Amino acid sequence: MTNLVTNVDSTAAEHPDATAIHYDGTDLSYREFWARTGQFAAGLADAGIEPGDRVGVYLPNLPQFVVSFHGALRAGAVVVPMNPQYKSREIGHLLGDSGATLVVTLADLVPVVEEARDETDVETVVSLGEVDGATSFEAFLVDESPAVVDRADDDVACQPYTSGTTGQPKGVLLTHHNLASNARMATDLLPGGTRPDDRSLGVLPLFHIYGMTVTMNTSLFSGAAYYPLPSWDAQQALSLIESEEITIMQGVPAMYNDIVNQPNLDEFDCSSLRFVNAGGSSLPMEVLRRFEEEFDIELYEGYGLTETSPVTHFNSPDARRPGSIGQTLPGVEAKIVDHEFEPVRKVDRGPVDEGETDLDGITGELVVSGPNVMKGYHDRPEANESVFTEEGGNRWFHTGDVGYWDAEDFFYIVDREKHMIVTGGYNVYPREIEELLFEHPDVADAAVVGIPDERRGETVKAFVVPTPDSETSEEEIKEYCLDSLAAYKHPREVEFVEELPRTTTGKVQKFELREREQGTEAAR
Ligand code: AMP
Repeated sequence: MTNLVTNVDSTAAEHPDATAIHYDGTDLSYREFWARTGQFAAGLADAGIEPGDRVGVYLPNLPQFVVSFHGALRAGAVVVPMNPQYKSREIGHLLGDSGATLVVTLADLVPVVEEARDETDVETVVSLGEVDGATSFEAFLVDESPAVVDRADDDVACQPYTSGTTGQPKGVLLTHHNLASNARMATDLLPGGTRPDDRSLGVLPLFHIYGMTVTMNTSLFSGAAYYPLPSWDAQQALSLIESEEITIMQGVPAMYNDIVNQPNLDEFDCSSLRFVNAGGSSLPMEVLRRFEEEFDIELYEGYGLTETSPVTHFNSPDARRPGSIGQTLPGVEAKIVDHEFEPVRKVDRGPVDEGETDLDGITGELVVSGPNVMKGYHDRPEANESVFTEEGGNRWFHTGDVGYWDAEDFFYIVDREKHMIVTGGYNVYPREIEELLFEHPDVADAAVVGIPDERRGETVKAFVVPTPDSETSEEEIKEYCLDSLAAYKHPREVEFVEELPRTTTGKVQKFELREREQGTEAAR
């Protein structure tokens, strides 16, 4: 069975009394959860939603997100998840592009939807709480058995938009088969699989594919309990791990970095954790080391993209190599190719010491193929043309990430192709410099970008968040990098900032740093 609805159906039948969702001190059992998704599906049918119609879910991590998501699927609709931090311009684009006719949101966000409404086909707004212009969530539920709409495995279930750190977001068409096969594979990553007695911390946002598949759906496929938290707060997360004896945590590297920088870590007992993983962006080795030392537990890095539902690679207790994104998930194929689509040679064993090895000749683009790869982008024939290559009976998806592989088929990400800096004819990948900056004791966070330079074309600039009691200077940071890196790689500019602009999923918005820089240039 590779359908999201039938998978969750079976869990509800098998574990009706187990807790499906625990939020704010209240448990929702699988029986209750399933009944509510049915009531929501019936509400959608009453509101005229038909199979294939788009339903926007514009909510933070709350039980109602999970109910709306799975309720919409039972009604045969396609979920368009939206970041609750988005403003009207951004959701206007998502609603307009997807053609969503119904949106579920917070009462406070109804005016934001209203502002964007003219550019959209939205007819119905459902809100958590009473507010003018919307039907309240509770009133929307219809207490009848819904006519559950059967959907084929190949039907689109969800249309998330890519994070947009590099440009206008595109809708990603993910089928039931894409999402269910990936959730099923992800449940098997844990020793013994995800179990009904697991309690899973929901800090990854549900509108993003990582939280949606790897936390929410694996939990719902296994009869485990899901503990959503609407926003990230390290202290709150640590308290919840202790008080609720959380067993599984999935997070982005920025969350683990935040955790290891908490001054009162020894006040929390997190010994209930049995599985912790990271993904979404590269996990700095220093953060990995500090987390494992503090918590005495292994932190497994994985890799994926919205377009691949998301997981393609992971490290596991049986096969792990820190610094790598691991090996492919069963059923997924991957390779590193050059511009002619020829496989690039494998290194004997990674990670290579970038200081000593010439990365030229061993790196290429990571391409992947498997049941989790999207159908395509919504309404973007040109983008679809450029991201797929048919070869060897496979449909290969181009990830846009540069990496290399080793003889044991562990894969390593060097950086995103788009982030590469070309300075004086040399290629520089920011990640290498960021790794070094994280090792500096006075650096709490760091990001490196290329900025325009008349002589070199581009030059390397580091944005650094110093630790609260730091005594370092911008000059000293430059010297520190120059001591360990080839001169052309060291940041010729360093700027201390209070925080870095990050997406809710932990990615540094490098285009914003570059734009900021160009603004400064223009003002000079
Ligand atoms: P998204 O579509 O928001 O999930 O972003 C996908 C992108 O996140 C990938 O193309 C990578 O650039 C990045 N990414 C995800 N996981 C990792 C990882 N473990 N290491 C490096 N980059 C990652």
